[in-house]
Amino acid sequence: DVSQQSGVGTAVAGDGYESVSVATRDVHLAFGRNQVLRGIDLEVGRGETACVIGPSGSGKSTLLRTINRLLEPDRGDVLLDGVSVLDQDPDALRQRIGMVFQQFNLFPHMTVLRNVTLALRQLRKLSRDEATELALRQLDVVGLRHKADVRPGRLSGGQQQRVAIARALAMSPRVMLFDEATSALDPELVKGVLSLMADLASQGMTMVVVTHEMGFARQVADQVVFMDRGRVVEAGPPAGLFEAPRSERLRQFLSQVL
Ligand code: ADP
Ligand code: MG
Repeated sequence: DVSQQSGVGTAVAGDGYESVSVATRDVHLAFGRNQVLRGIDLEVGRGETACVIGPSGSGKSTLLRTINRLLEPDRGDVLLDGVSVLDQDPDALRQRIGMVFQQFNLFPHMTVLRNVTLALRQLRKLSRDEATELALRQLDVVGLRHKADVRPGRLSGGQQQRVAIARALAMSPRVMLFDEATSALDPELVKGVLSLMADLASQGMTMVVVTHEMGFARQVADQVVFMDRGRVVEAGPPAGLFEAPRSERLRQFLSQVL
């Protein structure tokens, strides 16, 4: 029952409040003397999917981490629904921004169900019954309700990643961030996770997706952002970027990954 999916499909076209869901403005960040982000401007509209591509070390993960305040920019600002994240309580913020990592970061000693209910109980303060109901519904969405009582170690990598996605979705986030969510998976498991992500995108979730999957970026992204050495070198609709890259750096990058 699609109407049961919480946190998915909540973006209503023309809801009149704010059309930009995530924005970064001139974000700079250094680790010591290593200047990793050198003025990043990004705008992701409500319900849009932005795919961030670029060579290893270009600052993609660092950028994602500034969006949910795992890191703070040295300069510039990050806005969620028009409000600076720097003014928001990190715990409250992370309830509104779901993040999925390359390494699923599930708790190995807890059942799948407990992994999903944990934040619902501790952060959202739901009762055990409420949290369980919501978690089972999300596990249903990712096709893993039948695995609720097993520990993550008994699941394939692809299934574990789908549990991590269910855990994030259970919080009804405004935005989902994915950091190379399929890079640690065996090739035959990649497709299931990507198709789940594509479903989310088509249901109107706002997503920022760091990925090496150029096929996914081409098919699903509204906007592709090419980063190199801490800067956005090119950004725009996938057709333009992939078929007619303007910069030599993007041309070079694409010739290596495609
Ligand atoms: P990407 O995700 O594009 O591969 P990252 O954002 O992970 O790039 O890293 C960009 C640069 O920042 C790299 O030079 C990396 O070594 C450095 N870096 C990332 N995280 C840290 C950290 N916590 N401490 C110090 N340096 C870091
Ligand atoms: Mg990275």
